[in-house]
Amino acid sequence: MVHMGSEDEAIGVVQDLLIRAEKVGASDVHIQMLQDEAQVSFRMDGLLSPIETLPKRVSDRVFGRIKYLAKLKTYQDAMPQDGRIEKADIGTVNDIRISTYPTVTGEKVVLRFFPEDIQTMESLTFPDDARQALEEFLTLKSGLLLLTGPAGSGKTTTIYAGLRHLVEQGGKHIITVEDPVEQVVQGVMQTEVNEARGLTFAKAARHLMRQDPEVLVIGEVRDDETAQIATRAALTGHLVMSTLHAGSCQGVLERLMLMCPDNYAVLSSLVLVANQRLVRRLCQKCEAKGCGDCLDSGYKDRVPIMEWVKLDDKVRDRVRKDGPTYLKPSVSMLDFARILVAEGITDQAEIERAIGS
Ligand SMILES: [Zn+2]
Repeated sequence: MVHMGSEDEAIGVVQDLLIRAEKVGASDVHIQMLQDEAQVSFRMDGLLSPIETLPKRVSDRVFGRIKYLAKLKTYQDAMPQDGRIEKADIGTVNDIRISTYPTVTGEKVVLRFFPEDIQTMESLTFPDDARQALEEFLTLKSGLLLLTGPAGSGKTTTIYAGLRHLVEQGGKHIITVEDPVEQVVQGVMQTEVNEARGLTFAKAARHLMRQDPEVLVIGEVRDDETAQIATRAALTGHLVMSTLHAGSCQGVLERLMLMCPDNYAVLSSLVLVANQRLVRRLCQKCEAKGCGDCLDSGYKDRVPIMEWVKLDDKVRDRVRKDGPTYLKPSVSMLDFARILVAEGITDQAEIERAIGS
């Protein structure tokens, strides 16, 4: 062969990379331009691992090909862009979200697979009483559930499972505002925030209240106005689910009280606070010795752990008297983690990585 066009080569490289990533269960593919080559990494079970490098001659075309597939400006590499590749255009099982970003050594692109199926509360394999606490919340007519945990701790997956549960029960008008909509749920009115066009969580939530929802899901409480809308909605006959960044259940309440001056309303609206992590499972195929399935890491798949506090009148009274420090889970995440270690589902090193020692 005299010459194989590098355009064709890039088409093959992109397709092969994405199909391979999906096959090993990666959630994200990172391609980072370095001095004279591009580093490709896969995120698997929450951890990023280097996979291979692409020579610059190929990587330039690969970036162009990805942008083309995602309908982005192929010549633009100085400004970040966001897009989406449809599974039918590339041959993967799932659609892919694309984010490009300029760095000092060149462009970086992150490709994230949208999850395929919406999990059920059962398939999430929460400890029984954690699942019961969540399901009990879902039977209520009104109240606020706030989930916390770092990025990648499974909060969104839990909320989707909750939505699915509600849809299966039927009869409720459910509205979401998300950033982005990761999965389309039949029977739910879903909206995506668009900061560039001024559709923020706060603005969307404010207007959605006039769409007469019974259940409102707000992807994340990021600002005071959203926090106030969420608590007010929960006090006026709506079931509200959201996430908030804080290190603990107590941290959630402290932050919410700072965001909403009406602390009485905060305490009355909040029904359940949960703090969640994902821990990697020991690979069952090789008994953690390392094999092709776990790419020699000894870990495969993840299980959620959770600590939570239900706010009943007794808890509310104590918090009014003693402040948010009273808000302590009866069983800590660490206690749950120890059970998983004792059952041989995970190990101590993984617990320390996921929760801290
Ligand atoms: Zn293995």
